[in-house]
Amino acid sequence: MADNNAFLEHLRTELQGLRDAGLFKTERVLSTPQGAVVRTADGREVINLCANNYLGLSSHPAVIDAAHEALRTHGYGLSSVRFICGTQDLHKALESRLARFLGTEDAILYAAAFDANGGLFEPLLGEADAIISDELNHASIIDGIRLCKAQRWRYRHNDMADLERCLQEAAAAGARFKLVFTDGVFSMDGTVAQLDRMRALCDAHGAMLGIDECHATGFMGCTGRGTHEHRGIFGKVDIITGTLGKALGGASGGFTAARRDVVELLRQRSRPYLFSNTVAPPIVGASIAVLDLLEASTALRDKLAVNTHWFREAIVKAGFEIKPGDHPIVPIMVYDAVKAQQLSARVLELGIYAVGFFFPVVPKGQARIRVQMSAVHERAHLERAVAAFSQAGRELGLVQ
Ligand SMILES: *Cc1c(COP(=O)(O)O)cnc(C)c1O
Repeated sequence: MADNNAFLEHLRTELQGLRDAGLFKTERVLSTPQGAVVRTADGREVINLCANNYLGLSSHPAVIDAAHEALRTHGYGLSSVRFICGTQDLHKALESRLARFLGTEDAILYAAAFDANGGLFEPLLGEADAIISDELNHASIIDGIRLCKAQRWRYRHNDMADLERCLQEAAAAGARFKLVFTDGVFSMDGTVAQLDRMRALCDAHGAMLGIDECHATGFMGCTGRGTHEHRGIFGKVDIITGTLGKALGGASGGFTAARRDVVELLRQRSRPYLFSNTVAPPIVGASIAVLDLLEASTALRDKLAVNTHWFREAIVKAGFEIKPGDHPIVPIMVYDAVKAQQLSARVLELGIYAVGFFFPVVPKGQARIRVQMSAVHERAHLERAVAAFSQAGRELGLVQ
């Protein structure tokens, strides 16, 4: 092995730089499944307000049973990519169930939503085309667009006039095909994209509309189909990407749902699909059970909506400022980064696990605690959370 002391020294300097800037991330170790209450490695039990476990399906008995059953009937793994020997009846079933649930013709599975976005643009669009993207889109969308040769436009976050400017400029540049792409829900603010207005703009300018539904599939809209249902344009989105790793069970895996021809070409040319292993059978079997649950009843998304409404009202009544809206992501605004860290540390002492976000994850001076509601939370959990925030907020002089 080459003498790489200089290299390791360089890495240590980089790491120290992150620590000095307060950007070093530490990972809290849990010793329980994901749930309303989790135990940390030091043995403390805390109410969890920071998982993407929106519907509580990460440890739902029917989901775990289905994973066990698929493990028994289809094995642990396929040791193959899909096109060699990695496609089982379960994979085909899940793809058609996802398409039905989302209102598209077909769907294709990926190892992660990061891969679905990473492998989406390059196979479909080329130099003659235009991709128009919200400036706050998820990192995986940004990376996927970077890998594609299409011309790029970025519009100001959620700004429909600026989107229209981009559509006009792309047309003036002679773009053959235009694709507008946005997060359905933006994870830092819980902002819900204005898909109804975006659809109208896309129609007026002959553009396609694509959305990343990672923070929406399973619970947005009155039957949980997603942001397109919530905004009244179900069945009218050209491309939907999403994850199995958040509301839909929380394990891992992603998908792209679209017209049959789009999905067919992705199967032929999308590199993260072609050159990465098939999704494991227990995850696929469990995901089918998740869709069974969600198609049979809206009880979980309804409970999530009730929890979200209750918590948003209660935390405001306690004197905190939140980003308004109705998404289960509730950003409690603190603005000052140090105060945000103190608040999250103090509520943790009081038994509430909620993480602070500050620059560069959010803009300077916009520090916050982002809490996320789940259908596994009972009212008592949420009452304890609000009480802890009130006490910590008073101690830190943030509320009266
Ligand atoms: C979480 C997330 C992803 C990545 O999902 P994985 O399946 O974990 O790779 C992609 N896009 C958005 C908007 C997300 O929130």
